[in-house]
Amino acid sequence: MNIIDDKNLIPDKSIIEKVINVHPLCKNLSSRIKNLTIEISMDPSEKINFDIATQKAVLFVFKDTILKPEYEFVLFHEFSHVADKLNPEFKYSDEKYDRLTTKEVAAVRTLWDCYIDSRLNRKHLVPASYAKTNRMGRVDYLESCGVNNAVHYLMKSGIIQIVLCLS
Ligand SMILES: [Zn+2]
Repeated sequence: MNIIDDKNLIPDKSIIEKVINVHPLCKNLSSRIKNLTIEISMDPSEKINFDIATQKAVLFVFKDTILKPEYEFVLFHEFSHVADKLNPEFKYSDEKYDRLTTKEVAAVRTLWDCYIDSRLNRKHLVPASYAKTNRMGRVDYLESCGVNNAVHYLMKSGIIQIVLCLS
């Protein structure tokens, strides 16, 4: 995997390599991502884009992302989106995703993030500093009332079905 980080947003590349090599949701991430470009995020949070056809990923971070106590978890979370896209069982489709309305995208993103965070939580990859945030509270809530199983089911049955269920 080739890492392009012109702005030197993540000076220590070994952390990225570690996260990719030990990622619990995909055994061979390092061979599935050819190019990883690191850019400044213009959104409220970090994010990742991945094109399955070209195997190119763009990770969007902030200047202070590396200083966050949950920095490693942020990387595990972002690469989980790539792992899901690469998993045939997840049935991710760019074509379907690109047809979603803004509201539908927000709904799918929320569910997808919960689905990722709950799986990382089970692998004990959520740092204590992050466990009490609203985002993890949402995962706890979903798990306590059994809704998380439904979230897992929805995500595995494909993105368009989720939207049909929500609308
Ligand atoms: Zn996410």
